[in-house]
Order: sequence, then structure tokens, then C-alpha cells
Amino acid sequence: RTYKKMSELPPHQHKMPERDPHERAANFKEVNLGYSIDDAYQEAERCIQCHKPTCISGCPVAIDIPRFIRHLLVRDTTAALETIYESSIFPSICGRVCPQESQCEAQCVIGRKMEPVAIGRLERFIGDNARPPKAVPPAFAGKLGKVAIVGSGPGGLGAAADLVRFGADVTVYEALHVVGGVLRYGIPSFRLPRDIIEREVQRLKDIGVKFETNKVVGKTFTVGQLTGEKGFDAVFVAAGAGAPSFLGIPGEFAGRVYSANEFLTRVNLMGGDKFPYLDTPISLGKSVVVIGAGNTAMDCLRVAKRLGAPTVRCVYRRSEAEAPARIEELRHAKEEGIEFYFLHAPVEINVDAEGEVRGMKVQKMELGEPDERGRRRPVPLDEFVDLECDTVIYALGTNANPIIGQSTPGLSLNKWGYIVADEQTQATNLPGVFAGGDIVTGGATVILAMGAGRRAAKAIGAYLQGGKQTWPITIDDA
Ligand code: SF4
Repeated sequence: RTYKKMSELPPHQHKMPERDPHERAANFKEVNLGYSIDDAYQEAERCIQCHKPTCISGCPVAIDIPRFIRHLLVRDTTAALETIYESSIFPSICGRVCPQESQCEAQCVIGRKMEPVAIGRLERFIGDNARPPKAVPPAFAGKLGKVAIVGSGPGGLGAAADLVRFGADVTVYEALHVVGGVLRYGIPSFRLPRDIIEREVQRLKDIGVKFETNKVVGKTFTVGQLTGEKGFDAVFVAAGAGAPSFLGIPGEFAGRVYSANEFLTRVNLMGGDKFPYLDTPISLGKSVVVIGAGNTAMDCLRVAKRLGAPTVRCVYRRSEAEAPARIEELRHAKEEGIEFYFLHAPVEINVDAEGEVRGMKVQKMELGEPDERGRRRPVPLDEFVDLECDTVIYALGTNANPIIGQSTPGLSLNKWGYIVADEQTQATNLPGVFAGGDIVTGGATVILAMGAGRRAAKAIGAYLQGGKQTWPITIDDA
């Protein structure tokens, strides 16, 4: 190894190569370009291979991080990928979109003295560059029973991958016309290229997972019909949480006022990412305001910029320090020319006689005492600003879509409409019905949804075997 002592380690993470801000703000090409083998090797050398590696406890699916880095250090990327696959089946996706700085990297030992090991970048490198094992359907395919999965986002895909390997006959139902759920409609291609999602979906098809698009469970047919006349032995509901949140201020139902979900879905699924070669069907003005400062807000801001809006502003009622977006996303947005109005809260959207947006009145705020989550509360001041704008996008988080709850009699929901499921098994109160991901937890991360899908797969496998065996599910038993 190059470094013998901690004091010799480079204090900073090896830099991620990125596209130039001026170039990238005009197209939808991926911004982060990924490590080369030499970049990855140099960063891997910063890991001191702790005897008690705290990074693992920071990973929601407990990837054996030091072990995969050890394989990388001897340039055995296949073994590194196999190590990651034990816990996470989508390293190329999670390595791009997980908030590693608040998960594994936040727990990395060297992070107490310097920048932590860039675990997410190394995970992405392995996912992108290691040769995966050949995807072949298991010889005992279908013997475990029939399972329907509702939703093809990370929770549904995670469950599908494991259930097929256990021997289940798996069909994934997707409401939209393409597979991928929030990975596809919610995350722009400059953060998660489409070919990465398509590659993972193809691997699932290769091992026998069936996909049916344009099937809205709750409308096309119900969960009860899946377990009834359609003959499924179990159902896993991973439908996400896609209902938008609004503020209830005057003017918010005018033309060119969108929810982030609608805006991103229409752009990501209807040609926006091919701009300027295909026209996006969304009507966007010259001056856009996005309300909120999470990752979804950053996506909306940066998409609006790429669609050609000259002025794009973010309005957020707290300060930058409280913004929920990843630091990298904030930095990228600033570099691309987004203007930020921190400590400003929308009060009214100004609408003209034709019903078009003409501006937004915002109120200045200051920070008060911390709230129950420890974030300092915004306190209104008696000062107002009029922002000129013709388009407004709400990126304030999402709510449970009521369609599954309303169409599934007896399914237990909490007071916010999310499905109640066991934390370990993801089982709901209805026999054979399991649920996980955002439809249970509310909006969370890709890795948490995938982890829930894999827990559900394990529990469904046990359920399909009459509850006799929990884990592992062997070929003979299946
Ligand atoms: Fe390596 Fe950090 Fe994990 Fe220690 S905590 S094993 S330095 S990644």
C-alpha cells in the first residue's frame, strides 16, 4: 500500500470528473463522468481497512464496504461487484443517487479527521465497470408460486430480483408506459442516464421477471383481483408516493403552476431529455420559480435551465444550511446559474386576468428555535419582495397516492394514508399482501426502498413455503 500511516493519507477525496457547467446546462448529458480505474484505485487506497468498520452501519443495506474496497485494491472488480451484490443489486444506480454523505460516508472513520472515503463513487465505479455474472433464469423458475409486484421503482425491482432467484414466477405491474418508477420519471438523465436503468431492467427480464406497463393497480384491476381471479399467491405493493403537496396560497391553480412530479414526469418521459431534438410538451416561460430546496427541487431547477428558461430561481423558507438537497446537487445548481432565495417564503402567486402567472410575492424569514427534528424554524419578518416569474413549480415533498388504499378493503393505513407494514417482513394486515418503499415510509431514498423490497422478498419466500423456512431459501426447498 502507498500509505503506511493515517497522517500520510490525502485529506481530500479524489475528485469526480464533471462536465463543464456552461456546456452541461444546455443538455441532458450526465454531469458526473465517473472515476477511471486509476482514480478508483487511488481513492480506494484512502480506506484504512478498519478492524471495526463503522461505514457498514451507515449503509441502509449494510454493504460490506471494506471488503469490496479490498477487492478493488487488488483490481478484482468482479469480486468487488459480487460483494456489493450480496446487499445491493443496483450499485450503478445507488452509487449515483444515494446520499452517501449522510449514510456510509458520514460514518467513515477517517471522516473524523479529513474527508471520508468516497464510498459512493467507488460503488458506482464497480457497478459501471465490473463484468456482472451472466443473467440466466434459475432452473427451478416458477416453482415457488406466483407473485405480483405493484410498481417498478427501486422497491419493486429489488423484490423482483430476489423473488425470481428464489424460484417465484414474478410479474411487475407498472402504471406508466415505461418501467423504472421514480428512477425513470423522477430523476433526470443528467443524474441517472436512461441506459443504466434499462440495463438493470434488462437483466431482470433475462432472469425471467415479467413486466406489464400501463396497468394501474387499483383501477385496471385491484389487489384483491390479483390474489383472486388472477391467481397470484402473494402481492408486494411498492407503488411509491406520488401525490403532490401544495401550500394553499392564492394563485396556485393558475396556468403554468406545476407540481414537481408532473413537471419531471412530463419532461423525463415525454421527450424533455432529448431537448432540443424533440420538443417537450410542457409549457415553460422565461422566468421560473421552484419552491423547495430538496433534491427534487434541484432537479426541477436544473431541468428548467436545460429547457431554456433564462431565469430560474429557488425559493426556500429556511437557510442554505437547512436545505435537504445533497451538497453536490446544490453546488451543481449554483454552477449552472440558478439563483437562490433562501429565507424567503411564498405568500401569493400573482395571476393576470387571463389566468397566467405574472409573479410571486415572497416574505422574508429569519431562523428561530429548532423544531422537533432539530432544524431551526423559519420565523416571518414584516418584509416582502415581489419576484417576477411566469412559471411556478412546487417541490415540497409528496404524499401517499390513495388509489391502492381506496381499492383494497380492510388494508390497514396510517393517518396520512400510508400502508402499515411490519418493519422486518413488510407484511401488511392482509394475508399474502406485503408493502414497502415510499408507500409505507413516505418519500425516502432509493436504497431504503430497495432494502424494503429485498426484505419483502425474503418474507414472501418464507410465506410461499408455508412459513416453514425463513432463510435462506434453497433450490431444493423451492
Ligand atoms: Fe474504510 Fe472508512 Fe469503512 Fe474504515 S470506515 S473501512 S476507512 S470506508
